[in-house]
Amino acid sequence: MLPRNPADYRSLVWALAMPVVLVAQLRNPTLLPYLTPLSLYLAVAAGTMVHNHQHCPTFTSKRLNSFYSYWLSIFYGYPVFAWVPTHNLNHHKHLNREGDATITWRHTNRNVWYIALSYFFVSAYYQSFPIKEYIAKAKTANPRLYRQIITQYVVWIGALVGTLIASVALNGVWVGFKVWIFAFGLPTLLGSYSMMWFNYMQHVHCDPWSKYNHSRNITGRVFNFLVFNNGLHTVHHANAAAHWSTAYAEHAKIADKIHPDLNWRSFWWWVIRGYVIPAFLPRFETKQLGRAPFDPPEGGRVAASRGQTPMIDSVEALEAGNNAQIA
Ligand SMILES: [Zn+2]
Repeated sequence: MLPRNPADYRSLVWALAMPVVLVAQLRNPTLLPYLTPLSLYLAVAAGTMVHNHQHCPTFTSKRLNSFYSYWLSIFYGYPVFAWVPTHNLNHHKHLNREGDATITWRHTNRNVWYIALSYFFVSAYYQSFPIKEYIAKAKTANPRLYRQIITQYVVWIGALVGTLIASVALNGVWVGFKVWIFAFGLPTLLGSYSMMWFNYMQHVHCDPWSKYNHSRNITGRVFNFLVFNNGLHTVHHANAAAHWSTAYAEHAKIADKIHPDLNWRSFWWWVIRGYVIPAFLPRFETKQLGRAPFDPPEGGRVAASRGQTPMIDSVEALEAGNNAQIA
């Protein structure tokens, strides 16, 4: 029953808070203005917890890990197995280069607010290919994994419908629907939206050919407390199997090797400097740092593929909780 790493007791407190905050709002809509911001934050936190859990399973027991995956699917806002084909097996392998379904330079390498805001839709579309491939492979080669995937979908959709029915039953049709939107609908949408947005801001204009400059980091302690160290991305790519609680110690070892423009203390200052200021003064748009992802050192500039994704070779290696070695 215990998490493998004591730092994850805090993850479990956050995970338990998620339904409490939801139920409080469904039962008492006057709490919405106070608790909806907390629900929005908890959905973002759930996304970072999913990321951590998919790389480094929280429990020793496979059963507990898959139960926790169902739990997080509800509050993050999508079946969490999808991280394995799109993130563990794809993004970590290709690192924003050709073949990565989540490339930040699909239609342009400019880093501006409207590209950043619309990235979710582009990235979600291209991620659907490895997800479909993964489900099809699981269906033919790994029935147990396939059952888990289907169960995650059932749990996720069941929670969406079930909480809506509960809210309508408690508050009437119109108020119940409104309460559900703010207490659950919008937060779970933000959960997956924010994770894709983090992926964008952590790689856009970075140099995937460089050992240390392939990712952008947010180093502030408060931010990383809130997102379970998901701001420290360079060390995460160096060793994706490492537990999130070790990220600061690992980051300290290489911080001086990372280009200073890629270590940002403040998340919000990055948003202002990266998007708000250039929206009014385009000359302040960030520039590609080092070698661009589509410009391999061996020559031959590549174009972004349209819908092609690398084949997934081993279904056995794909199971959530069994992919910790994939970096
Ligand atoms: Zn990762």
